[in-house]
Amino acid sequence: MNGLPSVERAIAIFSRFPGIGKKSAGRMIYHLLRYGERDIEQLLQALQNLRDRVKTCRICHNLAEGDICWVCNDKKRDRSLLCVLEEPSDLMAFEKAGFFKGTYHVLGGRLNPLDDVGPEQLNMSSLEKRLLSGEIKELVIATNPTVEGEATAHFVAQLANSSGSKVTRLAYGLPMGGELEYLDESTLYQALTGRREF
Ligand SMILES: [Zn+2]
Repeated sequence: MNGLPSVERAIAIFSRFPGIGKKSAGRMIYHLLRYGERDIEQLLQALQNLRDRVKTCRICHNLAEGDICWVCNDKKRDRSLLCVLEEPSDLMAFEKAGFFKGTYHVLGGRLNPLDDVGPEQLNMSSLEKRLLSGEIKELVIATNPTVEGEATAHFVAQLANSSGSKVTRLAYGLPMGGELEYLDESTLYQALTGRREF
């Protein structure tokens, strides 16, 4: 701790962000101090807006400014196609890519018995309700290809089976521009077992 506890404290908070080490956090704080009042004022305002305005969509649990998110509000979306994801950041990745025209359901995590995350801790009951509405023709499971993501995918698939919706899972693939020799075994295994006709 140096003689600037306020600076140290701010650096400690900034360095909690993913991908930001103490050094980058320090650079950000000194930038704010150097460029002063206006930047700090804007940052305060932005954080306040985040806290006060950003909520969870009551249909899909995506982040929303208001009751319902921009995807659920979009009349052009195909409501018979529902993609299940772990986090709003996964949804953002889909939206950024721009090719998915269906709607989403954000689970808010993945099943993880070691961390006491069971189905009750995730947005499963609202998913079940959506499935039972009869509107969903295809459910695309896009949980992450991890052990917990797989377990979550199986749970969701079971939930969907009773609703009569078709259930699909994202294919695992080889990364574009990647080389086989650098792949880990499970990626290669998934790529092989998920192969399709050429
Ligand atoms: Zn929504």
